[in-house]
Amino acid sequence: MSTSSTGVSITVLLPAGRLPIDLMEAIQEQATKYNLGIYCSLMQNIRLINVPDDVAGKVRDELALLGATFKGPGKFPLPRICVGKPHCSFGLVDTEKLSNELLARFENREKTKAKFKISIAGCTVGCSWTKNTDIAIMASRVGYSVYVGGKGGMVPRTGIRIIKMANKQEVLDIVEQLVEFHDLKTKSKQRMSKLINDPEFPFSEV
Ligand code: SF4
Repeated sequence: MSTSSTGVSITVLLPAGRLPIDLMEAIQEQATKYNLGIYCSLMQNIRLINVPDDVAGKVRDELALLGATFKGPGKFPLPRICVGKPHCSFGLVDTEKLSNELLARFENREKTKAKFKISIAGCTVGCSWTKNTDIAIMASRVGYSVYVGGKGGMVPRTGIRIIKMANKQEVLDIVEQLVEFHDLKTKSKQRMSKLINDPEFPFSEV
């Protein structure tokens, strides 16, 4: 939950960018009841804005009844994904399924240090900004590639490819290695771009 002069914000996490109908209805109900704004975030979540301090707890409780989870310190980042197969004619893989598998891999992780993002693309077009994300998985006709160290911001950079023609298991293992390396080398907040030149970084560009 974040605070501003116009109240607080509550970000409802939407794995794979999916918005369940019952949750959508509950969000609409709360927004109507308390005159809240609804912002669709760039990370494919929903952010309720202008939430008065004295109702924030009630709003969260109502949404939590439907299984909603909320952005907060230590949460493992949800991958930003493209719509993928079978919803895009270029899609080579089911990006929702891959995202869910990746999240399942980290579901018992108690605290993730900020700040890195993950993205998944169902083909080499890379609609989910794969090459400008800290950790990115991109499907191709010959397997997956993983990119590391991409970012946007004032000094954008393109991530480096650390593996190509990989299978899904290899990709999940590599993401875990990267997350562990980030954890080991990060005190509070750290982009992956700062870590790829570390002498102990376990991968090279391919
Ligand atoms: S990255 Fe490829 S599969 Fe995903 S939406 Fe774009 S064109 Fe479609």
